[in-house]
Amino acid sequence: MNLARVKRRLIKAIRLYPILALAILALAYFLGAFTEQEDPLVPQSALITGLYLFVGLVPLLFIIGFIILGGATDREFKKMGSKREKLLTSDPFLLPKEEMFGYKLALITDRPPTLTGLTGDSYRADDAASCDLDPSHIPPVIDCECGFYAYKEFDDAKFELTLNPGCFLIDVDLFGIGFIYKRGFRAESQVVKKLHLPKRCMRCHIFPTKVFVSKYRLGYSSTPWWQWQIYCQFCSRGFKAEHRLEITEMIKTLAIK
Ligand SMILES: [Zn+2]
Ligand SMILES: [Zn+2]
Repeated sequence: MNLARVKRRLIKAIRLYPILALAILALAYFLGAFTEQEDPLVPQSALITGLYLFVGLVPLLFIIGFIILGGATDREFKKMGSKREKLLTSDPFLLPKEEMFGYKLALITDRPPTLTGLTGDSYRADDAASCDLDPSHIPPVIDCECGFYAYKEFDDAKFELTLNPGCFLIDVDLFGIGFIYKRGFRAESQVVKKLHLPKRCMRCHIFPTKVFVSKYRLGYSSTPWWQWQIYCQFCSRGFKAEHRLEITEMIKTLAIK
């Protein structure tokens, strides 16, 4: 059940209430609820009782609806909160005993091209994490979100790629202090080992990939940015030389070894 949709419907229904009330009053008036009539269609007392019920019951139903909805929303928030806790590791001694090798998604943005995480933070192919929230942190800090994240399983990253089709899959080695969280690691520093290239053009999804091209995009915060994607020979035709980069050149520019 989509709570937001139910809430919207309930609010819409409340807006209709005054119109409905007027219509019912008019109907009651024409049926003779407010005047003495001989041989009425509906007895006056029944009409008056009906009006009382309408005035009392309908707002009560709305109130009950909102109480139920409020409870459901609270439960949903709690569920989301516990999911988040799972993401931030809760045990400071849960340090990985294995080599930290993982998979993640990155965008290629800016000119010259730079790797950028889904959170919007850019990094070099060999980089140490920094914390946006607290400059005194040396990531990863246990109760913060900072550090380099990576999935342990290739399939998890691959699944996320289907949700973020503009991204590239990368293989990373993680070093320094690292924490295990439910589906991977969060660590101090990261070296990008490999950039996975899609087989098909990221525009037409038909022909094999040929060359990286950069496009100007409007970001969420209305700051425009350059995004690099890999296109086929046909889709990349209209791009000028300064907006094209051969695959080998891209790997070299990103300094992936
Ligand atoms: Zn931090
Ligand atoms: Zn194409």
